[in-house]
Amino acid sequence: MLPSLSNRWQLRQLMTASSLILLVACAEKPTAADAVPLVPAKPATPALMTPVKPAAEPEADAFIPPTQSFEQWRDGFRQQALQAGVSPALFDRAFAGIEPDMSVVKADRSQPEFARPVWEYLEGAMSPVRVRKGQALLAQHADILGRIEQRYGVDRQVLVAVWGMESSFGQFQGDKSVIRSLATLAYEGRRPDFAHSQLLAALQILQNGDIEPERMLGSWAGAMGQTQFIPTTYNTHAVDFDGDGRRDIWNSAADALASTAHYLQSSGWQPGQSWGFEVALPPTFDFAKADGTVRMSVSEWQRLGVTLPAGARMPAGVENLSATLLLPAGYRGPAFLVLDNFRAILKYNNSSSYAMGVSLLGERFNGSGYIYGQWPRDDLPLSRSERIELQTLLTSNNYDAGNPDGIIGANTRKAIRSAQQSLGWPADGYPTHKLLESLRNR
Ligand code: CA
Repeated sequence: MLPSLSNRWQLRQLMTASSLILLVACAEKPTAADAVPLVPAKPATPALMTPVKPAAEPEADAFIPPTQSFEQWRDGFRQQALQAGVSPALFDRAFAGIEPDMSVVKADRSQPEFARPVWEYLEGAMSPVRVRKGQALLAQHADILGRIEQRYGVDRQVLVAVWGMESSFGQFQGDKSVIRSLATLAYEGRRPDFAHSQLLAALQILQNGDIEPERMLGSWAGAMGQTQFIPTTYNTHAVDFDGDGRRDIWNSAADALASTAHYLQSSGWQPGQSWGFEVALPPTFDFAKADGTVRMSVSEWQRLGVTLPAGARMPAGVENLSATLLLPAGYRGPAFLVLDNFRAILKYNNSSSYAMGVSLLGERFNGSGYIYGQWPRDDLPLSRSERIELQTLLTSNNYDAGNPDGIIGANTRKAIRSAQQSLGWPADGYPTHKLLESLRNR
């Protein structure tokens, strides 16, 4: 999922106090800066798949050096695992020769300075190579995909798009031992409780016999297989669709695609509905309405003056559906009304860039999925230090941006809107260099 090196380990999922989701470390995930949460304040059940790096509550992730050796930690954890029903023989086999992986520790602590613009992210998500490969796989797996659609009601193009985004269709699943990565994170990561519960879930998967310990590979954060499920998501949503008795999201495309469909179905996917569509806004529009908390029917948005770009068509039957207005690059860029299925994709990975990537890639397989509006390419995302500076300046100017953590969450967006309103600017809540400079000069 995210392309530039600096973006690789970005955390994309919502997290609850005890669990968070990690982003996968492959090439295509968006960064904290370009994510526009549609469900800001509501820590969803992280059902997720993609491995996580903490984006929302860095304070809670403060690193506390371990007070015990890895062996001491392991022996204590062994007792807990056995109490949770893991057999001693399985535990000892899974932990044979396991030592902390310093590359995992390093990835867990990395804080990317630069964010990738959403337009570049989407270009990567829909690269011609990926589109062609997805089209070929849609043809190759037409029969399986047809049966999965019948069973779960999720469109095949979306399933193949998720497959492409998560692992380049199984090509990049991560080559780290999931047990070793999670043991490392449980021992000395920033979210030890989360890693601990994932590690227990991983041992349960092994005990089930779905995969051999040596073949249970994944990302540094423990996201596994072609779908990049974290172990708890695997336990709740992975399915055996090819009928060999194992839920094998590593080696079976049928299992991986059906598991993805099962997860999206559970996340509220509405069969046959669109993810959303691009819109055009009137010049005097109140951009503060482009907020995940503002939901109206498509008809109501139309009454506010929302129209279609010239030449665009609206998906059929959406008039009464609940829609949120999304401005991925602020008011100067393209605008979209997004529907329930977009929100279902966000449950997979809580990044609006990711959900846009999946949605548009799915359309691109059919030759559509092009954007009419122009991206503000001169408006590059703020770096992490600039985002922290912006938050600090907002707060010192009495626009409470919360903890200056470099993450543009609901509080920061609200503060940005207030500052924009006081300046008489469109209040889209989008962090720009122009706003940062304005606050610096106050
Ligand atoms: Ca299977």
